[in-house]
Amino acid sequence: MSRSRIPFNKPAVVGDEFAYMAQSIASGRISADGGFTAKCQSILEKDFGARKAILTVSCTAALEMAAILSRVGPGDEVIMPAFTFVSTANAFVLRGARPVFVDVRPDTMNMDERLVAQAVNARTRVIVPVHYAGVACEMDALMATAAAHDLLVVEDAAHAVSGDYKGRRLGTIGDFGTYSFHETKNVTSGEGGALLVNRADLVDRAEIVRDKGTNRRQFQLGQVDKYAWVDIGSSYGMADILAAYLYGQLEKRDEIAAHRAALYERYISRLTPLATRGDLELPHIPAHCQSGHHMTYITLADRTTRDRLIDHLAAQGIQAVFHYMPLHTSPFGEQFGCRPGMLPVTEDRAYRLLRLPFFNQMPLESADEVVRHVFDFFGAPLP
Ligand SMILES: *Cc1c(COP(=O)(O)O)cnc(C)c1O
Repeated sequence: MSRSRIPFNKPAVVGDEFAYMAQSIASGRISADGGFTAKCQSILEKDFGARKAILTVSCTAALEMAAILSRVGPGDEVIMPAFTFVSTANAFVLRGARPVFVDVRPDTMNMDERLVAQAVNARTRVIVPVHYAGVACEMDALMATAAAHDLLVVEDAAHAVSGDYKGRRLGTIGDFGTYSFHETKNVTSGEGGALLVNRADLVDRAEIVRDKGTNRRQFQLGQVDKYAWVDIGSSYGMADILAAYLYGQLEKRDEIAAHRAALYERYISRLTPLATRGDLELPHIPAHCQSGHHMTYITLADRTTRDRLIDHLAAQGIQAVFHYMPLHTSPFGEQFGCRPGMLPVTEDRAYRLLRLPFFNQMPLESADEVVRHVFDFFGAPLP
């Protein structure tokens, strides 16, 4: 594939990442749970409001930890959207639990909280809201459903590192929250993630699960005199050399969030005339939510128009992409009793959605250029 003039994503160094990596190397302590890990976790705890934050090798790993900590197994059901990345489902499927996919709301592409309440039954154990594009799911309603049926809530906040809901940071509202620091996300360490543990009674086991099922952490703290195999677990901790890179990014989190918000607003304000004409739909951010601004997506009239617009932009060197193939109609999803037609909003909108170029150092003028070519595609006069 030839390189695009305006790529969809371009990870960038934004601060002192290199200097911090050099410090980590010089310290002689580059494996998990070192000094930079502590600094990053402290930001997620003190500034974001997590009870305990644990850096992980990925958001996928954080979701797997949440599934282990939820103690789900065969016979248990976990409610989640089908419009999400595979890791949301796989983490629970790996424990033998069954994903129950519910439809999304057309305005936010977030799981419809009313359908979640209807999907609960005696086998349900966990609800997994995915805050699509960084915009919160209706957490009050979801938390009320969870409380009424004694369910756990795991927020997949991979898109939502700087988003909030009624003043509370996304990822800190449910029992667990997960972040992604993959190169395609707002704040990155190449690969990386975090598990936020928002309940004090779950913290000790979370550290054991991260440490391969050992009580290494309690041993380090002098709480036990032998370091032993005490539970299941895996090697989930992020290397400190990567945490050093991540710290350089997290230090700039406000600048990153401000630029992404400006880029988003630029796209939305310039695309509004096309929405008014009925050529496309723009995303909705409810007034009580502050978006994490993970992306700008538009929704076209049909799949053919979407695919033709992708080609039109590609011919100008502009890379626009789409996702997700709904999980319930994926080859692996069929075994969970899923059929096409089950989730009409997901099935309709997933194939009409388009994500425009969006990254931390993208100039606002590049958004203007993308917009110009979208106007050109529709034969619409630029205002
Ligand atoms: C990116 C993403 C993940 C996986 O993140 P990794 O850090 O790559 O494992 C999970 N869920 C959602 C919604 C994502 O967008």
